[in-house]
Amino acid sequence: MTLGCKLNFAETATLRDELAKRGCLPAEEDEAADICIVNTCSVTDVADQKCRQAIHRLARRHPGAPVVVMGCYAQLQPELLRSMPEVRLVVGIKEKAHFLPLIENLMAGEDVNILHGDDEATFVPSCSHGERTRYFLKVQDGCNYFCTYCTIPFARGRSRNGSVESLVSQAREAAAQGGKEIVLTGVNIGDFGRTTGESFFELIQALDKVEGIERYRISSIEPNLLTDDIIDFCADSRAFMPHFHIPLQCGCDDVLRLMRRRYTTALFRKKVERIHARMPDAFIGVDVIVGMRGETDAFFEDSYRFIDSLDIAQLHVFSYSERPGTKALEIPLAVPPQTRHERSNRLIALSEEKRKAFYGKHIGTRRDVLWEHSHGKNVLHGFTDNYIRVEMEENGKAGVLSLRDNTLERIRLGAFNADASALEAQVKI
Ligand code: SF4
Repeated sequence: MTLGCKLNFAETATLRDELAKRGCLPAEEDEAADICIVNTCSVTDVADQKCRQAIHRLARRHPGAPVVVMGCYAQLQPELLRSMPEVRLVVGIKEKAHFLPLIENLMAGEDVNILHGDDEATFVPSCSHGERTRYFLKVQDGCNYFCTYCTIPFARGRSRNGSVESLVSQAREAAAQGGKEIVLTGVNIGDFGRTTGESFFELIQALDKVEGIERYRISSIEPNLLTDDIIDFCADSRAFMPHFHIPLQCGCDDVLRLMRRRYTTALFRKKVERIHARMPDAFIGVDVIVGMRGETDAFFEDSYRFIDSLDIAQLHVFSYSERPGTKALEIPLAVPPQTRHERSNRLIALSEEKRKAFYGKHIGTRRDVLWEHSHGKNVLHGFTDNYIRVEMEENGKAGVLSLRDNTLERIRLGAFNADASALEAQVKI
């Protein structure tokens, strides 16, 4: 069971492949498992709670099967997890590289209960598509930034990465398996190169040359690391899509300072303008945290106005969560949960307005879509180059849609679907 971010899902998928090579297969829905593995997230207190619930649920459904906990929560709260009677093994971030032998020993009946070793955290490569069409290539892990609200540097360790050469060879392998789209994942991707002395710019230049991969997306990149060179390269490249995801976190400079973010709103605006100057139809998604300690009503209103004024397509809104051990706890003004909730709702509504406006202005235009696996349903979906979700109904022509799985096709964007979450694709069937 996996909770949390794309990176966790990518790592789980790789682990599943490795376990499959050793003859371990995922249990079916109604089957009793021999072992339960939970890959956890600890980004908020709600995430922690979900992990504990997942552990209880798995232990109830699979009595007698040892429960192994890995991931960020395992790294941050190992003693708490180990004290849960259901949990047999807690694997910290530094033991990730030794995960399989630990599991093998556990399955062989040995008494393993390692919490944390002394090894340096290494870069554990991961490139997998799980059950999706897109591949997720982990290019970097960890973070050195220590933003005041964030526990990720404690959970995932220092910034580290694979070499350009090794990542290019993983991309080639994905292409050989029929992969057409790769999402570059990591914790602080723009910081790529700490381990190898290379740069993210060098990485994307090398990946762009890999034959067979038609599309790359950068899952997220810090605004201060999104250089003009990177933007210009994406604009002129063969396969990097006009799609960016940039964490803003707050549209008020006073709060950005409290967060110890490394840019100002002015720099953020410049990046958005540069992207649109080179790629007018680019989709720009933006992360925002509401209710950070110190975010007064006036600061929030400043932030709202700034975000509203940006030419962006979507927001990902997170409510600030108090995390033990973070510097943010030293900031005196705490925002009440109800206020956080109200601010979150206002930004979610703004996000919907912006997304619909972005989709709406593309109706009637033609774009390339990569169709995703339809899983036997009668609606096929995919994303355009600039990340507009599109759908197409089968219309009684059984099997016709599945032939389109993992294929690129030029379509005309039609009207919104029933719940306005996608545009209807118009093609010649
Ligand atoms: S850049 Fe800041 S928010 Fe992002 S992982 Fe690093 S410390 Fe956390």
